[in-house]
Amino acid sequence: MGILAPLKKRYHGYVSQGDKRTVVLRGRNRCNGAAGYVSLTGQACRVKAAKASLLKKIYNVLLCSLGPQHWWPAQTPFEVMVGAILVQNTNWTNVERVISHLKARRLLTAKKLNALDVERLALLIRPAGYFNVKAQRLKHFLTFFCDHYDADVRRMKLRDGAQLRQELLGVHGIGPETADSILLYALDKPFFVIDNYTQRIFARHKILNHDTCYQDAQQFFHRHLSRDVKVYNEYHALLVRLAKDFCRKKPLCVQCPLQSLPKTRCVNNN
Ligand code: SF4
Repeated sequence: MGILAPLKKRYHGYVSQGDKRTVVLRGRNRCNGAAGYVSLTGQACRVKAAKASLLKKIYNVLLCSLGPQHWWPAQTPFEVMVGAILVQNTNWTNVERVISHLKARRLLTAKKLNALDVERLALLIRPAGYFNVKAQRLKHFLTFFCDHYDADVRRMKLRDGAQLRQELLGVHGIGPETADSILLYALDKPFFVIDNYTQRIFARHKILNHDTCYQDAQQFFHRHLSRDVKVYNEYHALLVRLAKDFCRKKPLCVQCPLQSLPKTRCVNNN
């Protein structure tokens, strides 16, 4: 008891010891699906409430200090989808080169790209790195998009968000971060995007653990923020900016807008 992170928490009861009360919740572990129980002492409840309020505070501080980030940097939803696949394990500048190249050749439509074979796609997206693997992934996605939605973003938008997420995760090479980027930034569906930057920042401030799995981290944001596309859009973009400018591998806490928040010992020692 106590190590589970229930998917759907249900109040199960409580255990009293003197004047201390421990709330017991029944649920299912999000990572491995195992059923079980989790206990929350009064202190644990307070810690959770404090983390939730910190989450909102961080958003407000970042928005005030860094300003709106105007994400995603793309002209069309399809461009977002392509960018979300190509940006895996590379920097955005390389992706921009590929997108500009495809635009210049008038190839940036799902049907035109899908008509190309994988070898040709790989050559076209070469600057994005890992181009053979990414060409396969892009091809799988393009085939899915053309076959299931006739390459029509509006049709895709009409699909229920949770069902569409499952479909995207079923496309070979699309993981949760890419799927959620497509859902949020291309299709305006409220799914918070978790990436290594988010994990790093929130672990350094003891809000998430270093080994918190994707689903648990996402659930944390979903539970404590209203399901608002604009807020999710801006919050993730602000976290990326924060990680690039301040919360680097070697953090620059002294200049950082979040420098007053409590941190883990390893960051404090830097
Ligand atoms: S740079 Fe320091 S203060 Fe800023 S987010 Fe990272 S750990 Fe926190």
